[in-house]
Amino acid sequence: MNLQETFGSLVFNDAVMRQRLPKETYRALHRTIAEGKSLNPQVASVVANTMKDWAIEKGATHYTHWFQPMTGITAEKHDSFLSPIEGGGAIMEFGGKELVRGEPDASSFPSGGLRATFEARGYTAWDPTSYAFIKDGTLCIPTAFCSWGGHALDKKTPLLRSNEALNRQARRVLQLLGHPDVKKVSATVGPEQEYFLIDRDLYYKRKDLIYTGRTLFGAKPPKGQELDDHYFGNLKPRVAAFMREVDEELWKLGVSAKTEHNEAAPCQHELAPIFTSSTLATDHNQLTMEIMKRVAGKHGFACLLHEKPFAGVNGSGKHNNWSMSTDTGVNLLEPGETPAENAQFLLFLVAVIKAVDLHQDLLRISVAGAGNDHRLGGNEAPPAIISMFLGDELQSILDAIEHHSAYVAGERMDMNIGVTTLPRIPKDTTDRNRTSPFAFTGNKFEFRSLGSSMSIAEANVVINTIVADVLMEFAEKLEAAVDIRAEVEQIVVDTITNHKRVIFNGNNYSEEWKQEAHERGLLDLPSTPDALPYLISEENVALFERQRVYTRQELNSRYDILLENYCKVISIEAHTMLDMVNQEILPAILAYSGQVARDASAKRQLCADLNLSFEQKLVHRLAALIDEIGAKTGELEQAVQGFDTTADALAQARYCRDRIFHCMQALRGPVDEAETIVDKRLWPFPGYGELLTTK
Ligand code: ADP
Ligand code: MG
Repeated sequence: MNLQETFGSLVFNDAVMRQRLPKETYRALHRTIAEGKSLNPQVASVVANTMKDWAIEKGATHYTHWFQPMTGITAEKHDSFLSPIEGGGAIMEFGGKELVRGEPDASSFPSGGLRATFEARGYTAWDPTSYAFIKDGTLCIPTAFCSWGGHALDKKTPLLRSNEALNRQARRVLQLLGHPDVKKVSATVGPEQEYFLIDRDLYYKRKDLIYTGRTLFGAKPPKGQELDDHYFGNLKPRVAAFMREVDEELWKLGVSAKTEHNEAAPCQHELAPIFTSSTLATDHNQLTMEIMKRVAGKHGFACLLHEKPFAGVNGSGKHNNWSMSTDTGVNLLEPGETPAENAQFLLFLVAVIKAVDLHQDLLRISVAGAGNDHRLGGNEAPPAIISMFLGDELQSILDAIEHHSAYVAGERMDMNIGVTTLPRIPKDTTDRNRTSPFAFTGNKFEFRSLGSSMSIAEANVVINTIVADVLMEFAEKLEAAVDIRAEVEQIVVDTITNHKRVIFNGNNYSEEWKQEAHERGLLDLPSTPDALPYLISEENVALFERQRVYTRQELNSRYDILLENYCKVISIEAHTMLDMVNQEILPAILAYSGQVARDASAKRQLCADLNLSFEQKLVHRLAALIDEIGAKTGELEQAVQGFDTTADALAQARYCRDRIFHCMQALRGPVDEAETIVDKRLWPFPGYGELLTTK
């Protein structure tokens, strides 16, 4: 395979457009993208025609508007290019109208009441900042999905708006720092994706995996990840073959999958791409998850993207590496070489620190969900408390700045920002704190709390928006300042002083940190129902409206959707548990205890003097477990029945967490115990030991 030819071969990217579009059209398209305006119909029609010819050459027969509704996965509705003509026959047709706007029958996508209240239908609109691509013989056109009233019904629209907010405010600051040449600032994102690969035949034997993506039962195996022998270990040939095919499929789609390795848990792996713009990174991460699932099947695997597929084993997350970069090629979080560059770096750095401290609630919400709740705080992932890590070197620099003292790193230096050069900040990977939710890693931040199955859109909407908002405040101060350099210094010092409580360089997994975080007044929101109410606080509504990212109505709708989704997940899990217990688990335990009892009684008939105390004890123990499981099942059934569909959304979510989920946990205990004593041949599905061994 020729990598250079393969890479992006199925993408209608800039190179293809430059080569194929008439010069004028190409320029007009670029102008439109740069100015964020809507496409002129003539330009659209030329682009559409060129795109269609290109797609047909590549074997495409259909096209679809590809969008990212609130379900968290992508949606597509395929139409063929074929259009019948009079007198029989057909032509391949695809015009500007089809390119620019689509009307999927969207009534069944979650809208949190937005569509019901305002208008019945939604439409999709081409987002020319994302390239079209071909997947499975279909030309996919990345689109934003809105209601006719312009309300966002998807994850893409707010992401585009938040990029715009960041661009506006960051440019304003850069202008004041003497960079009028910068025409655009974009968020750059590289999401590392964790996942499990398990045998597909075993997967299909477990209803819990099929319906919920995680195991709802399962006794601990004799060997888990205790020996840490999986992390970065050798790849099994079957896994290596899977990864190679995933890479190839992704490369064709222009996704720069780069690093693949084993992760901490058995059967757990990671894929990291090379970073790109936040919009493309979001599209690409959705494609990555989709391709991984599909390719897994071809290699006899099932790919689990759930945040916590196995209790007692590390879960899977996503690390969202984030920075800001100018169209002139400057990474704004890269410490500079000159004093002026360093002043700029520090200003953007403290903007992020302030943003994270002020908006811990929104960052927590951006990673909230029933699946990720199992993971956060589970001593394998950052806790539900948001804090930041800066590393020793940067920390001492900030300390010195705050106290106006000299920083000693080999040589003494004066810490006048904008006058002195900062010492080099090493990008040493050994200086990483892997327990921190939001860690500075040399020239970017790594937000490590995202769940593995989630779209990265929400986290980036929040990061872009909160940083934009702080930059806006900085810009206002700088605009009013007489001496810009002195003002930058003042802002940096004030920000460190006022927001340093959010910086924590120690072990985030420890109990002591929890205590300390509470003393520092940081938010601790362990579950989704704890976090979500903050989404619609007056402060947050004002923030999102000020940055033109969400309207109040859109926030309310998202709040409803997220709560409803939380309830749905728990309800599906509870029903799956009940099915498994009633139809599979109890019958198996009953069969086994019956068998032991029958065998014992047959033995007694044969030899009246046999000591059958083991059999007796076993039958007793099984009977006790059957009793307990029966009772706990009854309680779970009652809890499920008690769900009040008329209660308000938050009350419903709390009920799911406090009653239903509580009963699920209680039921799991005796079932897992039974699994350890029932004849393996009778246990109705494969256990953890088998699932977590790749052959
Ligand atoms: P680690 O596991 O040590 O965090 P990886 O190499 O696995 O490192 O992942 C780092 C990720 O960060 C990659 O996806 C990389 O492309 C991304 N990245 C690097 N620089 C930037 C940047 N300026 N902005 C956003 N992401 C970046
Ligand atoms: Mg990382």
